[in-house]
Amino acid sequence: MICSKCGQRAILSQRYSGLHLCQDHFVEDFERRAAETVRENDMVKDGERIAVAVSGGKDSTALLLALAKILEGRNVEMVAVTVDEGIAGYRDDTIKAARSICERLGVEQRIVSFQEEFGFKLDEIVAGKNEAPCTFCGVFRKSALNRAAKLLGATKVATGHNLDDEAQSVMMNYLKGDIERLLRFRPRREQPGLVPRVKPLRDIPEKETALYCMVKGAYTESRECPYAQLSLRADVRDMMNSIERLFPGTRQSTLRGFERIAAMAKGKWTGIDLLKCRKCGEPCVRDLCKACELLERLRL
Ligand SMILES: [Zn+2]
Ligand SMILES: [Zn+2]
Repeated sequence: MICSKCGQRAILSQRYSGLHLCQDHFVEDFERRAAETVRENDMVKDGERIAVAVSGGKDSTALLLALAKILEGRNVEMVAVTVDEGIAGYRDDTIKAARSICERLGVEQRIVSFQEEFGFKLDEIVAGKNEAPCTFCGVFRKSALNRAAKLLGATKVATGHNLDDEAQSVMMNYLKGDIERLLRFRPRREQPGLVPRVKPLRDIPEKETALYCMVKGAYTESRECPYAQLSLRADVRDMMNSIERLFPGTRQSTLRGFERIAAMAKGKWTGIDLLKCRKCGEPCVRDLCKACELLERLRL
């Protein structure tokens, strides 16, 4: 298999584009597409301070590497935020990986833990419960990231969500019939107390974020979170992967279809004004935020 652009040995075959790419042309393609996503969606303005969520996994490592390249020479600051959920035997290794990529790129890193923020590790929160840990984890992680970003004076939070993640989230909201949440996925306006979130890798497939890390010499722990198999997302991921194998480009068309729906809803659905949580002060839909509501429900 040879590169469609130069005739060197190809390391990737993009079935959705029909291109074969060598190492150099793959890196060029990856960074160009991430830069396009950032530019077309006006994700980063000059003078901004971006809090980059860096877990140490492949997606966030690729995100930090790509942003360092894309933002080179621009008046934009980056600070890495690593959330330690407290998952024994999994998170310790990824935190080490996160520290090393931050050191390599000279990016300041701040670690925030569920233990410090909420008083409990995720392992303790889910022990003996029948509910999917990802629900708790996602809610608490979002809250911890938002709070850390505000403390660090960041104007945006960047996360490493890739094309697979995005297509899965859209499909999950369809399956659950959760239109409000679906539309909240592309917020149309800023809300007080909520640092706007951007996803520069949202048009890049998961497989390519892993390959990008490898090519860039950043070793990342490929093991997945021990709780991942317990969620609806795991089933949706398997389903989307088999459809993608049969019909390359399905992830992109899922996301494009959703963008069209979001555009049609513009003006009709502006979302509600967020309130302040009476317990922790974080922005929320009702008077108690989801994190505080879960903590109460768990009687922690
Ligand atoms: Zn090439
Ligand atoms: Zn709260």
